[in-house]
Amino acid sequence: MMKQKVRIGDRLEFNDYESWLEEVKKRGADLLLEEHGATTYPNFIYASSEGKQRLQGNWSPTSGKGYVYEFLISFNTSRRKFLETRVAQKKGWVFKSSDGKKEYEVVQNEDSLKCTCPGFTFRGHCKHITKVSENLTN
Ligand SMILES: [Zn+2]
Repeated sequence: MMKQKVRIGDRLEFNDYESWLEEVKKRGADLLLEEHGATTYPNFIYASSEGKQRLQGNWSPTSGKGYVYEFLISFNTSRRKFLETRVAQKKGWVFKSSDGKKEYEVVQNEDSLKCTCPGFTFRGHCKHITKVSENLTN
């Protein structure tokens, strides 16, 4: 069987969409952009973050191959048409910040939980994680 993940320099090559998606999610991609040209099928699916400014990886439905970059690369979206899908974190929980202006997401990576809120970033723990772990053990 072909290996699902191969490292080529500073990028990883995937030949399975699910594994590709899992990897870009794990690395924080929050938006999938399907670029549509003349055909019905998307030419490429891009995984972006930081408000479409950065590219985490791309998937080619035509070749059945995808790449995930070790370092985010800048992404030029001007004059291009995309169909946008917010990345649905499979094992994720979304919380609104207390002022309701932001969303934080708790994601399960293998055995550990991670949250995108400032509390978790600085202290390594937060109320969102507590809430999710309580629900998981119930
Ligand atoms: Zn949190």
